[in-house]
Amino acid sequence: MKIETKCIQSGYDPANGDSRVIPIIQSTTYKYESTQTMGDLFDLKQDGYFYTRLANPTCGFVEAKIADLEGGVGAMLTSAGQAATLITIMNICKAGDHVISSSAIYGGTFNLFNVTLKKFGIDFTFVDANAPYEELEKAVRPNTRAVFGESVSNPSLDVLDFEKFAKLAHSHDIPLIVDNTFPTPYLCRPFEYGADIVVHSTSKYMDGHAVALGGVIVDSGNFNWANGKFPEFTEPDDSYHGVVYTKQFGKAAFIVKARAQMMRDLGSAPAPQNAFLLNLGLETLHLRMDRHCSNALAVAQYLEKHPKVAWVNFPMLDSSKYKPLADKYFPKGVCGVISFGVKGGRDAAVKVMDSLKLAAIVCHVADARTSVLHPASSTHRQLTDKQLEECGVTPDLIRLSVGIENIDDIIADFEQALALV
Ligand SMILES: *Cc1c(COP(=O)(O)O)cnc(C)c1O
Repeated sequence: MKIETKCIQSGYDPANGDSRVIPIIQSTTYKYESTQTMGDLFDLKQDGYFYTRLANPTCGFVEAKIADLEGGVGAMLTSAGQAATLITIMNICKAGDHVISSSAIYGGTFNLFNVTLKKFGIDFTFVDANAPYEELEKAVRPNTRAVFGESVSNPSLDVLDFEKFAKLAHSHDIPLIVDNTFPTPYLCRPFEYGADIVVHSTSKYMDGHAVALGGVIVDSGNFNWANGKFPEFTEPDDSYHGVVYTKQFGKAAFIVKARAQMMRDLGSAPAPQNAFLLNLGLETLHLRMDRHCSNALAVAQYLEKHPKVAWVNFPMLDSSKYKPLADKYFPKGVCGVISFGVKGGRDAAVKVMDSLKLAAIVCHVADARTSVLHPASSTHRQLTDKQLEECGVTPDLIRLSVGIENIDDIIADFEQALALV
């Protein structure tokens, strides 16, 4: 099936007389006739549901759909995108280990890596993803366990050179983890370019309506965990009666271990109701993403020509340094998020933001409604203007998430707001 069909049909195949739409199984637990069956379920000897923290049918249908969309062997939903990244790192790393991450990543992920996980003894090196390969390789240490990057970074909109990052990881026998939140699997499937694990915040385009927080981890099944560097996959897990993940679960070793150990112990499971809402979003993902991309390109081109606009950053513009990578990896478009600066700096940016009528000021991106955020006075407000320049968030920067309204109405809103500065 083509991806548009998968958005609608994958994951749930009702039997004769079953509900046509994914049912919401709002139950924490499941009934069995014998203690033997329950014991086998606990030992992972038999497949089945026993507690919704570990698995739930509603979530399971949506997991199967997303695994199919990304082209992976399995997926696991989490309560938020942050939990997907946390569980992925913790599934591979322990105190004393090290991870190489692109520095162009979401602020929440940066804090998770740079502050919280460092406190637990996992070290991170942040690299400029645009540096030459030889430069990146200098960050590799004997205890490096993974390489991490965002396919299109939030909020800087850098496009990842997948093949360079995959080479960095694979020539050192470690996996490449990619956060694919902004493009979604409709626009890009990182497994096709060498990623081993994909994570998402489904709170963004995949849900697409800003109604449900969520995250997902997808396992490509391609990484060889039995290469000698990852004994936690090849040696018996005492907390599961000696299960050896690579032996018992083969290509699905990573995602089974993420569920059996990490979800069991960390407990960031999604609500079945949220999985149901996520699935509704996924059914129109292909339609929405096409419109997000075409609207964003039109707005970016409009802003670029506007005399009161100082600069526009959008990888699909000819003026973007990421255009070649965007063309190579994202032939259908990159996403619907743009950043731009207004002449007149911080004050002019604030004036434009406050004058917008259709575009709302919200701390969210990537849903159906056009929205704006001024990082310098919100997410980055504790930084001085000098610090802002250093992290690429200039005081005049407006982050614009272009929605799927009529393009004329979106442009008219910016036209009237820019006329006031
Ligand atoms: C929002 C976001 C996250 C965090 O996801 P939550 O669902 O808010 O926890 C992670 N990565 C990227 C790229 C994001 O945009």
